[in-house]
Amino acid sequence: MNKSFKDLSLKEELLKAIDLMGYKELTKVQKESIPHILEGKNLVVKSQTGSGKTAAYSIPICNNIDWDERYPQALIVVPTRELAIQVKEEIFNLGRFLRLKVLDIYGKSPYRRQARDLGERVHIVVGTPGRLIDHIEKGNLKTNKISYLVLDESDEMLNMGFLDQVETIIKALPSERTSLLFSATMPED
Ligand code: AMP
Repeated sequence: MNKSFKDLSLKEELLKAIDLMGYKELTKVQKESIPHILEGKNLVVKSQTGSGKTAAYSIPICNNIDWDERYPQALIVVPTRELAIQVKEEIFNLGRFLRLKVLDIYGKSPYRRQARDLGERVHIVVGTPGRLIDHIEKGNLKTNKISYLVLDESDEMLNMGFLDQVETIIKALPSERTSLLFSATMPED
């Protein structure tokens, strides 16, 4: 029998949002990764766009966010602005009844507004590497409470030459954290 979201021990508010989004059964990548992420394991996941990979990492992360914490607890690094917006929307929908605050941060968009938004309560930040580094270096994006790092479309980030920047971001994060790498292909690097 196929697993439903109700079989996972998720918060009621999250189940309600998943139901409203019309997700009934878990996709393959969700079945194989959500239980491990809920347990705090690090994962490397091979998954294509359209497989439900965004929800695969967003559902367990949303479930485990501590609302009272003021500083970001999850950082999702993506290669493009389009993907940042898409992921932010998915998390916004999943987190609506948990009242989660999610921000998208990318280049060629007003810096000051991002800096201001980062000064408020933020639970989850989704962004592209260059602009994320800017905000980390300026102290706008506080990294000391980040307990989840997601690298989404990692192969694309590699292709676009973001490896060094991703390494810079990783160095700024607490070593005690869950790291999740999602990629359509698995190059050596
Ligand atoms: P992604 O692979 O994250 O780009 O997701 C592809 C599409 O699948 C998105 O439009 C999601 O809204 C949708 N989706 C994700 N999980 C499920 C699910 N369990 N059931 C139905 N649709 C889903």
